[in-house]
Amino acid sequence: KESRAMKFQRQHMDPDGLSNNSNYCNQMMRRRHMTEGRCKPVNTFVHEPLVDVQAICLQGNITCKNGKPNCHRSSSSMKITDCRVTSGSKYPNCDYRTSQKERHIIVACEGNPYVPVHFDA
Ligand code: 5GP
Repeated sequence: KESRAMKFQRQHMDPDGLSNNSNYCNQMMRRRHMTEGRCKPVNTFVHEPLVDVQAICLQGNITCKNGKPNCHRSSSSMKITDCRVTSGSKYPNCDYRTSQKERHIIVACEGNPYVPVHFDA
């Protein structure tokens, strides 16, 4: 079974991905299996080395949107791509808008080793 840590990597990690392509989200959301059963409405990919994203678990501890205490905010801004389903998108033809950004990100971490398992913001 896929662990929560592996699921985080499938849904959010693309270290070498260059998203300067308006089809990036359409391709990646399908390739990473987030368009099965429904079109996942919002999803972020991070274009930084896995070790740098894992290190966020050692950085500023904050409360997650769901009230749990195990969220962490990256001390540096990171290259990300925001994927958001378009208003006209109709499952199974999931259509996304691709936006490149540089932001501090917030992830939830769990386990031993203590690694990212959820993208919060
Ligand atoms: P909206 O802008 O649609 O009201 O909310 C989108 C929210 O989803 C934002 O707060 C954003 O931080 C968050 N978000 C962005 N990417 C992801 C993601 O990959 N997973 C989850 N669960 N939330 C995300």
